[in-house]
Amino acid sequence: MDFSTIRFKIVNKHQSEYKLAEVISIISHQLKTPISVIKGYLEVLASKDLGEINPKQKEYLNFALANVDRMILLVKDFLEISRIEENQLKLKKEPTDLEKIVQEVIDELSPVASAKNCEIHFQTRTQLPVLNIDRLKIKQVISNLISNAIDYKKTRGEVEISLKKQGEETIFCCQDNGIGIPDDEKAKIFTKFYRNDNAMIMAPGGSGVGLFISKAIIDASRGKIWFESQKDRGSTFCFSLPIS
Ligand code: ADP
Repeated sequence: MDFSTIRFKIVNKHQSEYKLAEVISIISHQLKTPISVIKGYLEVLASKDLGEINPKQKEYLNFALANVDRMILLVKDFLEISRIEENQLKLKKEPTDLEKIVQEVIDELSPVASAKNCEIHFQTRTQLPVLNIDRLKIKQVISNLISNAIDYKKTRGEVEISLKKQGEETIFCCQDNGIGIPDDEKAKIFTKFYRNDNAMIMAPGGSGVGLFISKAIIDASRGKIWFESQKDRGSTFCFSLPIS
């Protein structure tokens, strides 16, 4: 489904016509404030500033907070998808040390990885050039690829991250020994909302838009993103970014 081609007629006195991408963008913007307000109230209750709460209440509040955070991420993803489909994805390029970004993501994901019995290894052997890229957006791509490697592991996860300079490009790769991707589903991997049946069971919180957004970010950065995978053996996702 391509949000940019579907049009809605909004029945008002102007009979205005909107693209689905615009409608989604409007709804997502409207949802941002009330969701943040709900999160604020839940945080106040959980902080016990208004009085003691019992362990069961605390558990339910934490559950509600986790789901509000998930809603915030979904709204962010929907806004990003609308921007991509309207060709409005804007990059804020700045000189960036990619190795530092990779390390930051690994540090942030380490607690999740340990909890899921997954080890992350990262080594760079060469000095890498500073890249002129959108730091936050590329961090989002790296975080998505490493999170997927952790989420879609089999019993014991091993994730190998590498960075190297090749010609006029820097190449990032994330290799896992997870469930892999069946051959007949490989063509769908970068499409919106694609999720493998097993993946949905393993990571029910996923939304199937991370790789679609990652590809749009890498394309806009004049890079390439690709993967190799064997079902039940594991996957390697890589992207390249131009040095100049
Ligand atoms: P999400 O992880 O939220 O489902 P993504 O767009 O990041 O969304 O990934 C889409 C789908 O691609 C996943 O649901 C899963 O089926 C598959 N996938 C992505 N990365 C991996 C991986 N490392 N190993 C196996 N399957 C993967």
